[in-house]
Amino acid sequence: MRTLDDLDVKGRRVLVRADLNVPLDGETITDDGRIRASVPTIRSLVERGAKVVVCAHLGRPKGQVKPEFSLRPVARRLGELLDQDVAFASDVVGDAARATVDTLQDGQVALLENLRYEPGEESKDEAERRAFAERLAGLADLYVGDGFGAVHRKHASVYDVPRLLPHAAGGLVEAEVAVLRRLTDDTERPYVVVLGGAKVSDKLGVIANLLTKVDRLLIGGGMAYTFLKAQGHEVGNSLLQEDQIDQVRGFLDEAGKRGVELVLPVDVLAATGFAADAEHDVVEATAIPADREGLDIGPRTRELFAAKLADAKTVFWNGPMGVFEFDAFSGGTRAVAEALIGSDAFTVVGGGDSAAAVRRLGLPEDGFSHISTGGGASLEYLEGKTLPGLAALED
Ligand code: ADP
Ligand code: MG
Repeated sequence: MRTLDDLDVKGRRVLVRADLNVPLDGETITDDGRIRASVPTIRSLVERGAKVVVCAHLGRPKGQVKPEFSLRPVARRLGELLDQDVAFASDVVGDAARATVDTLQDGQVALLENLRYEPGEESKDEAERRAFAERLAGLADLYVGDGFGAVHRKHASVYDVPRLLPHAAGGLVEAEVAVLRRLTDDTERPYVVVLGGAKVSDKLGVIANLLTKVDRLLIGGGMAYTFLKAQGHEVGNSLLQEDQIDQVRGFLDEAGKRGVELVLPVDVLAATGFAADAEHDVVEATAIPADREGLDIGPRTRELFAAKLADAKTVFWNGPMGVFEFDAFSGGTRAVAEALIGSDAFTVVGGGDSAAAVRRLGLPEDGFSHISTGGGASLEYLEGKTLPGLAALED
């Protein structure tokens, strides 16, 4: 994969596909993590005298211009972080975009409006996508792929444009891929993966592939109840995906055959309902009352998981251990995060909600070796899938 250093960018128009998909409350950015992660690549291009044209998506406007998904507030924040003006083009590839790009001087930066305002960006129709990609590519001389959170999408700005322009991977994509390689090739052992979050079905592919690679798999969060049920236990009103029980039973068998230690919760916080102030008790994971739902792993499980992480040399963690959005049920997630922070292992956090949990709990982000900016993209990489955006950059 070519990197930024392989491109001669001075005086050239460089289209940077970034991931600026941040959470907004009205026009207020509630977490600018992804914008901050995009800054080093843009700054490096600025310093080398490129005319930098940034493109990105925000939310899911589905091919329509919807003002609540405008990137305008992001342009402002990007300008503050870069400490220079960022010109904002009020369309993606129209008159405004062309005029904005035409006025750029060497070392200046522009941001185009939300890529997903254009139906061609996400279109499954190759010709429609290609036509949009050609218009986008027409705005620049070179392409830099740096939107790691979108590299698993076969979208025009991710997949088609790099086939039309000389291209390289940006620093963020390079760093993310280097981390993922350490989780898939010659991984230092013991290799322990902690999975949680809401649905098993989101993570079936990754579980299947990880069972061939890891030494231990710790399962918490909402998905643990489908595993407990597959072992024949009652889970009360806990989150359960009935239709996944057979598949999960298969995973339990597979883990046994391969000698992978699959560790499930031994106790849970069983609540009377799904609410921040719901009454709750610690119960055995094998004895959840019919009228209760498990909203967090219990204290013995927290200790057990910490012990199973203690000797790890590599750890990947995806998915909260409980409903961390409610303080009363955030303790399990905190315990796992703290075990990683205290560990000497190479520790990687993947998943939007897991990263948000780290910040919400006030834990130091630099306590982990790496917090990925791309949940879906990291999971698909670990599933062993080819990611369209990376494949296009490799060609
Ligand atoms: P990530 O974005 O890190 O991959 P997911 O999106 O898979 O994580 O899951 C995050 C969600 O899982 C959180 O909103 C959390 O409240 C929910 N969750 C975790 N444990 C439980 C549980 N026991 N019951 C219901 N929801 C849960
Ligand atoms: Mg999520």
